[in-house]
Amino acid sequence: MLNIKGLKVDLEEEDKQILKGVDLEVGAGQVHAIMGPNGSGKSTLSYVLSGRDGYEVKEGSATLDGEDLLDMDPEERAAAGLFLAFQYPVEIPGVGNMTFLRTAYNAQRKARGEPEASAAEFLKLVREKAKDLKIDADMLKRPVNVGFSGGEKKRNEILQMAVLEPKMCILDETDSGLDVDAMKLVAEGVNALRSEGRSFLVITHYQRLLNHITPDVVHIMSEGRIIKTGGPELALEVEENGYGNILGETA
Ligand code: ADP
Ligand code: MG
Ligand code: MG
Repeated sequence: MLNIKGLKVDLEEEDKQILKGVDLEVGAGQVHAIMGPNGSGKSTLSYVLSGRDGYEVKEGSATLDGEDLLDMDPEERAAAGLFLAFQYPVEIPGVGNMTFLRTAYNAQRKARGEPEASAAEFLKLVREKAKDLKIDADMLKRPVNVGFSGGEKKRNEILQMAVLEPKMCILDETDSGLDVDAMKLVAEGVNALRSEGRSFLVITHYQRLLNHITPDVVHIMSEGRIIKTGGPELALEVEENGYGNILGETA
């Protein structure tokens, strides 16, 4: 599914290397977690995968189902099946949530050469998805994220994910200050959307999110590299002992 090899990335502005050779392979249907101390490059990795400006890829590759992601613009990445949760938490006054979702959905279909959905078709689709996820459809009538609580934004994010049906979902929950309830919503959403053809990369500074999502694989990132990979027990080790032992082991 997602295959990252020897990825080295600099900041465009300064001559500073942030990612210093990242290797990562996420198989179809798997959930991988990336943990690591603040400043280790976790968010940078997700930004680079999303195609955000300001980074310069120096070496290495990143492919989704064999397609070169780094060569695509952000819309093409979405059409190829990549979803980044943090891309859409912005408030958009004056734009209804339903309109916003349909625009994103149809842009993706268009890029794939598929027919766009009519307003009526899309309404039916969204209502079904919202029902499956037990999300109140009233949220669809409101302007995008305006006045949404933290929990509502998370619900909306999960709904976006459900509607866009991505193959590869990347969630960067590091800096979002999730309270316990919002964290449970994210976990429930991920668990509901887990499937054979869909993989997740869950980035988190804290172990507690992983109490609710059982990852197949846990990676620890430090100073621009993945320094340790293991099973869910690795997350528990971090909870008990912090990152100190792991960083010491591999230093
Ligand atoms: P994490 O998500 O693991 O906390 P980040 O990817 O946010 O780490 O940051 C990795 C490193 O890159 C940090 O040292 C951070 O200060 C630096 N960095 C990231 N983006 C920028 C930027 N735009 N300007 C300067 N430094 C940056
Ligand atoms: Mg950070
Ligand atoms: Mg971060």
